[in-house]
Amino acid sequence: MKILVPVKRVVDFNVKVRVKPDGSGVDLDNVKMAMNPFDEIAVEEALRLKEAGQAEEIVVVSIGPAAAIDTIRTALAMGADRGILVRADQPVEPLGVAKALKAVVAKEEPTLVILGKQAIDDDCNQTGQMLAALLGWPQGTFASKVVIDGETVTVTREIDGGLETVRLTLPAVVTTDLRLNEPRYASLPNIMRSKKKPVDETTAEELGVDLAPRLQVLKVEAPPARGGGVRVASPAELVDKLKNEAGVL
Ligand code: AMP
Repeated sequence: MKILVPVKRVVDFNVKVRVKPDGSGVDLDNVKMAMNPFDEIAVEEALRLKEAGQAEEIVVVSIGPAAAIDTIRTALAMGADRGILVRADQPVEPLGVAKALKAVVAKEEPTLVILGKQAIDDDCNQTGQMLAALLGWPQGTFASKVVIDGETVTVTREIDGGLETVRLTLPAVVTTDLRLNEPRYASLPNIMRSKKKPVDETTAEELGVDLAPRLQVLKVEAPPARGGGVRVASPAELVDKLKNEAGVL
């Protein structure tokens, strides 16, 4: 079985992002970038399936600028086998990513695609669902457990009311939630080995997909700054403030 893992290059989760003064977006100059954390979980899950003898090959794919190769290399250093970079120099929306992934799926013919549930830059939570719809494949989103059994995959999903378990017929699309696993760090030997692993480069034109944006960003603004806290003298004063100032009681 071949597993395809899409990995996105995003602003590192430790970075406090700054909005550009003209409100057109987030300032990315000299900002540390990293693999989307949910995609690290996706790579880790694919590695565990391979180590359990349930997958033979893990291919990672990123749609993005030349620098997205670093994200692919990180996944290769964790243990993935090879990479594909779909060069796109403009930001790509989830529908464009899903179309590019559909074209990669047609070439690579994986049995399972494991994506992150959402990218922490746009917080869209759309790509996996769109990809499943475009492919006509079943989907198991927000996975906290993934079990392959012959022709099916059983996915435990984290939903608002608790856990839901679904059984999907392969090939299928799965998206990862936080509790699925704890991703490994790449070891030094693996980092060295990863430099020799193959990475193919292609473009949207070569894949025959249109990545033109469909959405127009009107304005980006930072959330309002939080006011300082106050100390209250008694529970009665707290209740009074919650009722009469915060209006939450
Ligand atoms: P989103 O729908 O944008 O929140 O992204 C959900 C998931 O889709 C991510 O966790 C990635 O697995 C995948 N994805 C989104 N954008 C890209 C991209 N440019 N390249 C590769 N994978 C992506």
